[in-house]
Amino acid sequence: MVANLRSQFPILEKRIGKKPLVYLDNAATTQKPLCILQAEREYYESINSNIHRGAHYLSRLATEAHEEARCRVAHFLGAAAPREIIFTRGCTEAINLVAQTLALSGGIHPGDEFILTTDAHHSNIVPWQMLAERTGATVLPVPLTPELCFDLAAFENMLSARTRLVALPYISNALGVVNPISEIISRTRHNNPETLILVDGAQSVAHTAANVQELGCDFFAFSGHKVYAPTGTGALWGRADLLEKLPPWQGGGEMISEVSFARTTYNTLPFKYEAGTPNICGNIVLGKALEYVQQIGLEKISRHESQLTDKLYDGLACMEGVRVLGPRENRGALISIVVDGVHHYDLGTLLDNMGVAVRTGHHCCQPFMQSLGITGTTRYSFALYNTEDEVELALRCTQRALDMLR
Ligand code: PMP
Repeated sequence: MVANLRSQFPILEKRIGKKPLVYLDNAATTQKPLCILQAEREYYESINSNIHRGAHYLSRLATEAHEEARCRVAHFLGAAAPREIIFTRGCTEAINLVAQTLALSGGIHPGDEFILTTDAHHSNIVPWQMLAERTGATVLPVPLTPELCFDLAAFENMLSARTRLVALPYISNALGVVNPISEIISRTRHNNPETLILVDGAQSVAHTAANVQELGCDFFAFSGHKVYAPTGTGALWGRADLLEKLPPWQGGGEMISEVSFARTTYNTLPFKYEAGTPNICGNIVLGKALEYVQQIGLEKISRHESQLTDKLYDGLACMEGVRVLGPRENRGALISIVVDGVHHYDLGTLLDNMGVAVRTGHHCCQPFMQSLGITGTTRYSFALYNTEDEVELALRCTQRALDMLR
């Protein structure tokens, strides 16, 4: 299966110097298959036009394709209706949308608490800090267990009548651990059914199926570029009753019903949250990318990636001085390591010289790094096109790099 899929990704044939590219930075962004590159081109060649309210043929075609993409996202996430899908520039914008509308709603009060996770991405910390600053609310991080897993017992102790929001990643991008979302949601609901729950699906969307209705969260955010779609795409799913109650956050075209200087009224969902001309092409192509993933099958993708992850984990774990962060089981398609006496940046640079692309640094998770007393990690992350040969090569190159550095 993989050889066939790989041939659909032109960039994977690239050489880095004289070495074949081994692209293991998929948690940062995925490469794009030909069907996506072609879909982008086809859009501009055959239907490019501004959407909604256009009387002409092309505008109708573009509008239909755009709204069809919304249906695809809704289907992918198991949303109750397409109007619950708001297109955004990505996961970060989706989370900011929720935080900003909550600020504008006036419904957050001094003393309210937002429970976050220690391993959260800055995109799922800073918007809540900004909201807390404006409203007098407090941000509380759930600690990690010594095994670097979500501490359910500590979380349960933190839940109280003040808990207004719980926001957490499905899969942490610095650590790779899958959070026990269902448990977290059921305990939150048990504490207070009204507490808002936002799941950051940036690292799960290309690897693990998530049905938002089965999960029982209130909001789910993800980025298109991490699931084979272009950058600048993504979506927020929100429960319709909540999205209806919250106010719009950006003003402009499309989000209005009627405008006068005396009084402006707002459009219905989802357009109320989509001011201005959206990323029409990007959103259409995002729909195609989700279709692409669904055609291959998320289960099949996840099984393949788990095999790679297990193999890499085992290989790295037995290298001298290497600490693989988090347990082997229950993880997404990524692994972070720290190495005694070796700076992550030096390891990443040597690996790059060998054609192996990994990410080094804090991965936008500085509080997590602070909790471990480190400045960063070296992170290897997989997509559906990676192979066992690449894992073996990455392991050999890592060992060689470490021998050079010590
Ligand atoms: N959350 C997580 C868990 C992520 O991994 C990322 C991207 N690294 C983001 C949020 C932010 O995504 P974006 O920059 O595409 O908005």
